[in-house]
Amino acid sequence: MPGQRHLVTVIPGDGVGPEVVRSAQRIIAAAGVAIDWETAEAGAEVFKRGDTSGVPTATRDSIARTRVVLKGPLETPVGFGEKSANVTLRKLFETYANVRPAHELPGVPTRYAGEGVDMIIVRENIEDLYAGIEHMQTPDVAQCLKVISRKGSEKIIRYAFELARREGRRKVTCATKANIMKLTEGLFKRVFEELSAEYPEIVAEHLIIDNVAHQMAKSPAQFDVVVTTNLNGDIISDLASGLVGGLGFAPSGNYGDDIAIFEAVHGSAPKYAGKDVINPTALILSSVMMLRHLDETDAAERIEDAVLVTLEEGRSVTQDLARQTGGDVEQAASTTGFTDAIIANLDRQPTTVAPRRGSERPSGQARPRPHWTYGEAVSAAVPRMTVGVDLFLESWETAETAGPILEALAGEALTLQMISSRGTMVYPATGLAPDNVGLLRARFVARETGAAATDADILALQGRVAARFAWTHVEKLNIFAGEPGFTKAQGQ
Ligand code: NAD
Repeated sequence: MPGQRHLVTVIPGDGVGPEVVRSAQRIIAAAGVAIDWETAEAGAEVFKRGDTSGVPTATRDSIARTRVVLKGPLETPVGFGEKSANVTLRKLFETYANVRPAHELPGVPTRYAGEGVDMIIVRENIEDLYAGIEHMQTPDVAQCLKVISRKGSEKIIRYAFELARREGRRKVTCATKANIMKLTEGLFKRVFEELSAEYPEIVAEHLIIDNVAHQMAKSPAQFDVVVTTNLNGDIISDLASGLVGGLGFAPSGNYGDDIAIFEAVHGSAPKYAGKDVINPTALILSSVMMLRHLDETDAAERIEDAVLVTLEEGRSVTQDLARQTGGDVEQAASTTGFTDAIIANLDRQPTTVAPRRGSERPSGQARPRPHWTYGEAVSAAVPRMTVGVDLFLESWETAETAGPILEALAGEALTLQMISSRGTMVYPATGLAPDNVGLLRARFVARETGAAATDADILALQGRVAARFAWTHVEKLNIFAGEPGFTKAQGQ
């Protein structure tokens, strides 16, 4: 409620984090919002102390209590080892909607100035390749599991439509790679098409993600709300922020049903840490999203107006913007100086652009609970049949050698249908010669057309094959409601 005291967890974070977070806290205080901040840790220092999650229990407890977080960027160890503490935070609290607005700002020159770029990227935040389920199948072949669920898709797509409805937006674009990943990205697209029927006043369109990238570079003003899977969203939201001035200006909110985490899109920018030169606008605008979430709409509008006035007048300009405008970087404003300028501009209104009156609300409250189409009972009622199995084998043997051996091992109930290498059929021979990387997939199906493959048949087959080949993993071939739950190999 406006005017009441709020309890918020603040994570200053790594690198430039403490500086930009401090800037936002000062502005919020100057705007008269009473917040009791619970300072909590996550990220680099926590990893260094040996906590491999990067998010200590005290921080988790604080968030569970306050349910609202303002956080600075956290450094992520690259490659092997610890997971990203950012991703851990988003997942631990099921903040499934990553909302990243990108709109033209006054005084921030871009190639698209005057075209009216004003979009919101709604990125699924939990699933997809970010499920982080990776395995070395052999010493030389790595695999990452792409997990897309109906429930996860429905939650984020409904979130996007509800956001569009609340904010009076006209169109929702769904961006996928469903033409290539027909089951994973295809499921997301199908759920989008199903749900769009419930929002007849909103134009619903689907575009392939590579075309979205192309269209965004060419004429970004056509986009309104864009909803997409996790990795697609990661990439196009950075692209979108590049269109309107860069990472220094890109805010974001991670919303769950009852917990929200607000942070800049940018990272810890270590080379600028502690120098008082970084642009705090992204984190300030993230804190504006937070104030709207806390129902502090007046303060949110006053702060956003003050940011717009400061940018529009261009008297206080941070280094990144000075570089973009060809200004004097040496004379650019410090982080502190820019913050002071915004505070001095509180209660002024921009003159060259209309004040923004976005209404990002607590998602849990604003969203009427719809009837979900997912759930155990619905899922259990789907007719299904297992018709075969894919066995993945570590083998450098040629398909001509391995094929007949596997055929002989198939047994009475099953038959070897094909072998593929990296998804391309190599047996029976196609006349082409895709490279062997040391991992073959052998597909066995029920010998009798239309028959099921039983668990006993599959397990017995696995035993026979394991005696001859090093198997790495197994995937059942299921048919759900008459539709194959598996894809063909290329060339099959
Ligand atoms: P980065 O965003 O930290 O910095 C890239 C460059 O962008 C900087 O060198 C700087 O030139 C510019 N930049 C970023 N923020 C700016 C700002 N506020 N003002 C002006 N210029 C700005 O990306 P990176 O160097 O790839 O990542 C550094 C670390 O941050 C890594 O450990 C990475 O994993 C982490 N990271 C964290 C988050 C997060 O916490 N949400 C997001 C991205 C990256």
